[in-house]
Amino acid sequence: MQLSSKTISISIIGGGIGGLVLALQLEASGFKDISIFEASRELKAIGSGINLQPSAVLVLRNLGLLPRLEAIGIKTAELRYYNRYGHEVISEPRGEAAGYLIPQVSIHRGMLHDLLLKTVTERLGNDCLHADHVFTSFIQSEESVTARFAKRSDPGVPPEIPEKITDILIGADGINSTVRQLLYPHEGPPNFSGCLLWRGVSLRPPFLTGRSMVWAGHENEKFIAYPIGREAELEGMSLVNWIAELRVRDKDDPDLTPPQADWGKVVSKDKFAEKFKSWTFGFLDIPELIEETAEVSEFPMCDRTPVDRWSFGRLTLLGDAAHPLYPSTKVPGQLER
Ligand SMILES: Cc1cc2nc3c(=O)[nH]c(=O)nc-3n(C[C@H](O)[C@H](O)[C@H](O)COP(=O)(O)OP(=O)(O)OC[C@H]3O[C@@H](n4cnc5c(N)ncnc54)[C@H](O)[C@@H]3O)c2cc1C
Repeated sequence: MQLSSKTISISIIGGGIGGLVLALQLEASGFKDISIFEASRELKAIGSGINLQPSAVLVLRNLGLLPRLEAIGIKTAELRYYNRYGHEVISEPRGEAAGYLIPQVSIHRGMLHDLLLKTVTERLGNDCLHADHVFTSFIQSEESVTARFAKRSDPGVPPEIPEKITDILIGADGINSTVRQLLYPHEGPPNFSGCLLWRGVSLRPPFLTGRSMVWAGHENEKFIAYPIGREAELEGMSLVNWIAELRVRDKDDPDLTPPQADWGKVVSKDKFAEKFKSWTFGFLDIPELIEETAEVSEFPMCDRTPVDRWSFGRLTLLGDAAHPLYPSTKVPGQLER
């Protein structure tokens, strides 16, 4: 049978950022038969800030989402690097301010996720999304691929769709991907960099231009802050996303096993705040910023060793399942401690 975009059926595993953007891209390219299976019981806004570089915003612009994106996020105008004493090292314009036709947008991950979710239901309908469906296994033949699911809320009871047969299956199930694990059974957990990240969001008066991103410190002790909320900006305030990063395991430690990660879990500031207590810069008082933030989450900085292939017959990997990267990298030049 001749397959066309109209007849090809596609299962997407994972309703995160990658899975939802993919569904919108497929819909825009004429594919109609798309099902998204998400392990979480409900798709709700989790996370803190995320930075969309112009290349990523271009994809969303082409899906017609730029006005809605700009109504939520901040068009980041500059990135400034400091040492841990607040002395400026280098700064550079970003996004439109750097001459790009498309902005860099800093945004709350939960709000971005909500926007994508709303757009998916508007364009593909409610029925394409299946929450509480944990992908467990697949089999594929020359003709099709079958995905099997369990219920997260009650693993003993079969979910509404225990198995789904489609032409194509895409594993967009994040850094701890089950799809990848089945393709690479000996790979094990992600590689821990040895650094933990603590993240928080706080509403406060703007610093610098009100659209500035600040990176301070060095490889083993780093603090990043940038505004992410347009609504706050319209009221003369800044919704500031911040990340405190500390090395907690030696760089040469052969043990790459990551500590437990949970984006939704609130942790104590005592784990890291002391290290930043003297980081008071003229334009930004970091101890105060940490102190005033109500909730802080913890996450290990991890990636994976690249694999040779992402695609196997009717199945492929996408996003963090295929190529997880660090959300931030080294401060250039390894600044003084
Ligand atoms: C809850 C959450 C909060 C995050 N917060 C931030 C943040 O604040 N800042 C930041 O920079 N990055 C954050 N990230 C990471 C960031 O979203 C990703 O690195 C990036 O968007 C890549 O997207 P992705 O779709 O590949 O993976 P993800 O966005 O991680 O999405 C993967 C999705 O797959 C689902 N899934 C996993 N296993 C299965 C399974 N077996 N069956 C079905 N579904 C499954 C997950 O529940 C998730 O919804 C967060 C990720 C998550 C899951």
